[in-house]
Amino acid sequence: MSRIPFLTAILLIALIAICSSQTTAIKAGKLIDPASGVVLTNQVILVEGQRIKAVGSNVAIPKGAAVIDLSRYTVLPGLIDGHTHILLQPEDEGEIPPIITKSQAFRTVQGVAAARAELEAGFTTLRDVDSEGAGFADIAIRDAINQGIIPGPRLFVSGDCLTITGGHMNLVGINPDIQVPEPGLLTDSRDAMIAAVRRNIKYGVDLVKIYATGRTSQNDPVTLEPLCTFSEEEIRLVVSEAKRWRKDVAAHAYGGQGAKNAILAGVRSIEHGMFLDDEMLKLMVERGTFWCPTLCVYIPEDEKTPVNDMIKRIIPRHKDTFQRAMKLGVKIAFGTDVGAYTHGHSAREFVKMVEYGMKPIDAIRSATITTSELVRMEKEIGTIEPGKYADIIATEGNPVDDIKALTRVVFVMKEGKVHKGLRD
Ligand SMILES: [Zn+2]
Repeated sequence: MSRIPFLTAILLIALIAICSSQTTAIKAGKLIDPASGVVLTNQVILVEGQRIKAVGSNVAIPKGAAVIDLSRYTVLPGLIDGHTHILLQPEDEGEIPPIITKSQAFRTVQGVAAARAELEAGFTTLRDVDSEGAGFADIAIRDAINQGIIPGPRLFVSGDCLTITGGHMNLVGINPDIQVPEPGLLTDSRDAMIAAVRRNIKYGVDLVKIYATGRTSQNDPVTLEPLCTFSEEEIRLVVSEAKRWRKDVAAHAYGGQGAKNAILAGVRSIEHGMFLDDEMLKLMVERGTFWCPTLCVYIPEDEKTPVNDMIKRIIPRHKDTFQRAMKLGVKIAFGTDVGAYTHGHSAREFVKMVEYGMKPIDAIRSATITTSELVRMEKEIGTIEPGKYADIIATEGNPVDDIKALTRVVFVMKEGKVHKGLRD
């Protein structure tokens, strides 16, 4: 240190100060504003530190600002997926669940890679709803991302989730004489439900998830009525206990009495919901309940994958429910269930939403504005506006004209840091 002349040291300190408040100017050829539905042209976005400072066509680029030229691309806010599983991988969907076949350490490593794949696909925020027996690995990954140890989206996580003996996330076909670890929290009494909520919150979850109906194979084979697993009173107990700690509840619910119980009990969102009838959808509109449809997880990624009879019957019902929900004005929050299929491929959900009749701009709104409300971050993310986090992505082609452009994300910035695309 003593060998560095005093003036040089001062200059170095000044340079570090300038760099830490570095202004970046992004030149956007096209800029989608999901709030107004307008596609603006030739915009400049100024980013200072983690946040957006200014946006407009007449914004002057300050001297010394780093310039990122996206004038050939379409720029939009970072995408938000309301239903993911970073600790689940496609190979885990086989007969034997990962809690039996993999160590938590290995699953965590896979989760780190999954988080990165999601970020690079344009998803800057995820609501991750069940680590499926990986304990609190989701919390560890969230914290590691927040501390800058690994790259990844901003995560809202649920840890393991509440279910009943014999319900979803409870292993079946197991020798009853041997003890096996369970992927879900078996809460067969009201005391157990309250204790599970408190335990999860104590260790750092952002939300609570409950399995209000069973798995698809437990649907009635004739009527497809899902298995109802909790009463309205029981779910109300979970919602009120979570609320005491200022946490929301997401309910896995395909439809039927289980879904109705969850809606009436005041959950924040219904997950999957392919059998929601008009009465339930209207109740959701009245109560402001969000719906994460997860259309694509029931549709194989390639045509060679066999589809069982139950799923074949679910797909058209799901489409019909999606179209009725749109008409009735349900808050449809983009949610994919990715993890059950390949991480980084979630944009296929947009394509399906548009195929089922949603306008591309509404599908984008669903994955930005609506999901930002779902995670109560609407003042911080979801649009490109001064004061919000600089979560900004760019696509080759304009997704408002061609929704498949969202499969071609070329640039990702999260909180002012570039994670994909044009680097210095
Ligand atoms: Zn899921």
